Amino acid sequence: MMNKEKLNVVVFRNNLRIDDNYALFNALKNKEKVFCLYPLEILEGTNFGFKSCGNFRKKLIFQAINELKETLGKKNIPLYCVKDISNSLKTLSAKYSIKIFYEKEVGTQELEFEQKLENFHCDSYFKQTMLEAFDIDISKSFSNFRNKVEKALKTNKMQILEPLEFEIANQKETLSLNLQDEKLEVLNENLILKGGEKVAFKRVDEYLSKYMHKYFDTRSLVDGFDNSTKFSVYLSIGCISARRVYQKLKEYESKSYESKSSYWIFFELLWRDYFHLVMKQSSNKLFLKTGLMENRSYDFSINSQKLQEFFDAKTGVDIIDAGVIELKTTGWVSNRLRQLLASYFVKNLGLDFRYGAAFFQEYLLDFSCASNYGNWAYQAGVGNDKQYRVFDPMKQSRAYKGKAYVQKYLNKEESIPSFDYAKMALKVKEEIFKIID
Ligand SMILES: Cc1cc2nc3c(=O)[nH]c(=O)nc-3n(C[C@H](O)[C@H](O)[C@H](O)COP(=O)(O)OP(=O)(O)OC[C@H]3O[C@@H](n4cnc5c(N)ncnc54)[C@H](O)[C@@H]3O)c2cc1C
Repeated sequence: MMNKEKLNVVVFRNNLRIDDNYALFNALKNKEKVFCLYPLEILEGTNFGFKSCGNFRKKLIFQAINELKETLGKKNIPLYCVKDISNSLKTLSAKYSIKIFYEKEVGTQELEFEQKLENFHCDSYFKQTMLEAFDIDISKSFSNFRNKVEKALKTNKMQILEPLEFEIANQKETLSLNLQDEKLEVLNENLILKGGEKVAFKRVDEYLSKYMHKYFDTRSLVDGFDNSTKFSVYLSIGCISARRVYQKLKEYESKSYESKSSYWIFFELLWRDYFHLVMKQSSNKLFLKTGLMENRSYDFSINSQKLQEFFDAKTGVDIIDAGVIELKTTGWVSNRLRQLLASYFVKNLGLDFRYGAAFFQEYLLDFSCASNYGNWAYQAGVGNDKQYRVFDPMKQSRAYKGKAYVQKYLNKEESIPSFDYAKMALKVKEEIFKIID
């Protein structure tokens, strides 16, 4: 039998970039033929009645894929979007001796997808975080994690790939691929930021050069584009790596100075790493009603009227309703609003956090499985936060410029709710969380 020709197949998911991309780098290293795939099936499906990937994020991803296709195309490397990864790999392996290169992710569906790749010869890398992945104790708090890694970072340098110089001569003509490259839908959504590696780098440079030292004072405001970095948009689909963001942060600090604000950007990026490593370690637990808790479970409600009122922005608490409207019309809400929405959903309405997380999943432009489900579980008291916390939406609104925000999204003056939302919170605390003060 004749030996089949070798073909390295890079499967892209949330690593839509050339820079610091371990899968692509290793596929190209030995100068063998390289072909790239994006599996469209990962954008399909629903959770608790919400789409796994809504149109805001889909458009962002398509923009990033189109840019990547162009960049790779200039180097004679094709990138095809395919509907069914297993079939595509079967087709390729009929003709070539294929080896797959991909980046590992966290999340149940993500791991199920990886099983399809593992039916073939694979090389895979977990590179979603700034830090090299390590086993963490999921029963311990974020502070415990932070203390440990900050010490480690002082001695261990972060591993980052040097920019990749590559060009594959003439392989386009010699590759014969019996695959369909699917056309990407044109979606009408307006995005707060465009998808793609170039704009990701531009945003990081822009924010760090102009606003880095203001971050601490502006990050909690409910509205305002440059009040926070917006790096999550690019990190979520991997247009830039977390390691590169860290490296840039250090670069800009050394060009100017280190401040509480610049440190705090790193601090928040550590939260991202933390939730990724918690999800990696705890497999599917953050998707369960019990979250990370071993011995307790809370009887969260799935009252359909309450759920619908929340999703329709009809709770009667203006700052909450404005947040829901911003999310549904723009694909964005600030971190402060995300906390208020999640707190109100679980601690005032007593609802099952997984419905709220699925709602966020459909609409958030920067949806990331670990950060979303990690934060929701945390707010729902089933993560690893030992304290019971409830946000007072009216107080928060006063503190973080909610008045103008309500005017912007509800087109009216903010008013005091006609019901006692604090009493509601107390009832949920006693009846669902069984905490009596
Ligand atoms: C209920 C809830 C759901 C969330 N869902 C997501 C999600 O799907 N995707 C997502 O990326 N973030 C999520 N977050 C975290 C946080 O709200 C966003 O990362 C942040 O608002 C993104 O804006 P930014 O990039 O301007 O953040 P900045 O304030 O500028 O922070 C810098 C970076 O640090 C990371 N970060 C900041 N806060 C957190 C946090 N609490 N948890 C994890 N990482 C953080 C992000 O990567 C962010 O880009 C959620 C938070 C809550 C409370």
